[in-house]
Amino acid sequence: MDAGTIKEFRKFKSIDKYNTGTNTYFLLPFRFHQVNNEKEVLVNEVGDFLIVPIGTSTRIANRQINDKEEIYADLIANFFISEKPIPDLIDILATRYRTKKSFLDEFTALHIFVVSLRCNHSCHYCQVSRVSENKQDFDISIADLKAGIEHMFRTPSSSITMEFQGGEPLLAFDKVKYGIQYANLLNEVHNKEITFVICTNATVFSDEILEFCAQHNVVISTSLDGPAFLHNANRPKTGTKSYEMVMQGIELAREKLGHDKISALMTTTTLSLDYPIEIIDNYIENGFSNIFLRPISPYGFALKNIKKNHYQTQRYLDFYKKGLDYIIQLNKNGHFMVEDYTTVVLKKILTPFPVSYVDLQSPAGMINNVVVFNYDGSVYATDESRMLAENQDFTFKLGHVQDSYHSLFYGEKAQYFSKFWSNETLAGCADCGFQAYCGADPVFHYASQGDLEGFRPTSDFCTKNMEIIRHIFDLIDREGNDIIKIFNSWINNTPQN
Ligand code: SF4
Repeated sequence: MDAGTIKEFRKFKSIDKYNTGTNTYFLLPFRFHQVNNEKEVLVNEVGDFLIVPIGTSTRIANRQINDKEEIYADLIANFFISEKPIPDLIDILATRYRTKKSFLDEFTALHIFVVSLRCNHSCHYCQVSRVSENKQDFDISIADLKAGIEHMFRTPSSSITMEFQGGEPLLAFDKVKYGIQYANLLNEVHNKEITFVICTNATVFSDEILEFCAQHNVVISTSLDGPAFLHNANRPKTGTKSYEMVMQGIELAREKLGHDKISALMTTTTLSLDYPIEIIDNYIENGFSNIFLRPISPYGFALKNIKKNHYQTQRYLDFYKKGLDYIIQLNKNGHFMVEDYTTVVLKKILTPFPVSYVDLQSPAGMINNVVVFNYDGSVYATDESRMLAENQDFTFKLGHVQDSYHSLFYGEKAQYFSKFWSNETLAGCADCGFQAYCGADPVFHYASQGDLEGFRPTSDFCTKNMEIIRHIFDLIDREGNDIIKIFNSWINNTPQN
């Protein structure tokens, strides 16, 4: 292309060029995406959608939609087009936009405390370099634990979650106990709503631990990767089988704390990819009514074992869709079962409310919703950030817990990250039809592509989310109200009538 052609190409065209149709409505901001061979979905600024025949977005832009057409009223009512330059009900749209982003009002809610790096397992996908059970130098100090808790109470959020992680946090139960007691003491003044969560492999419960958990209303989150052969291969434990111990731990916790006080999380390894049905059946057999078909995260020590932990996103998507189809069929047959990630996306698609799932938010969950206090006093922007740090990459370290709240949460690093944490401003996402339902994940893109912005055409985060969201719309298009009823039951976490 010579210089003359470039000049011609870049010249602004006259306004008449865009007035090709005969109708005089005004366009409001919306985006679109192809759903299948016949349909596309139009999505407005607050995530309202219309599934329409392919080519409709072009017709709208060319002012070819006639006010006698049925779709005309839908487009007006849902703020895709307007008969005035500024619609009369623009304030309603503004209120709805504020509601969608209202998770920002409260700022950081989830505070993760890594109380110990010690662990009694050696899972090959573990993202941190856990150390053996007796290395007490890898426990958080009381001084750092207290400083972290004091920061936690500086958040403007009225409702906070204090989550204990490891390694295996219950190997440092003295620190967990101290943390909960100190938080309760400070809360006598602050009066916030606190949820305590312990993420544990459920193999080290004692009467003392479970009695303390019952007394303080602690929620337990454990790991269960599916049937024994799969779980034990993913989560080896020297000298014994992890699966049997986890099942005993789950039973014990249910008995002492109540059935709903213990949830399970699975990680999809290369081995898991062939067994979606077996994994779901195992969750059902063990009394769970939900499952998160969660892909492995490309962080830290997990990547040391490429063969077991690294697979193409397409293989994961096949696994997810096969699992989702099976779960939908179970619901059609009258068995209530929920897939958690789909439900997060559905809440964004089908409700006007914000969703506080930190991995799928814009602005991203880092700092805005989550912060991590590590065992050595370092403070990280997300859980995944501390996993990078275990490989000596401290890009997302915000500072030390003894630093001021302002420098940690509003300092130079936080300001720098803010350039990359809104998908509204990222190349590729800015004009994506699924922007309202998706998120930004600068840590993932840094870890997988080497920079915080990332490149969407080759991004695994983008490939995964774009296809999952498209697949959900395809299901809604093909199955209509039948599937919407099931999806609403997942959103409300209540079986259909
Ligand atoms: S990550 Fe991909 S699917 Fe998500 S908003 Fe950006 S371009 Fe769209």
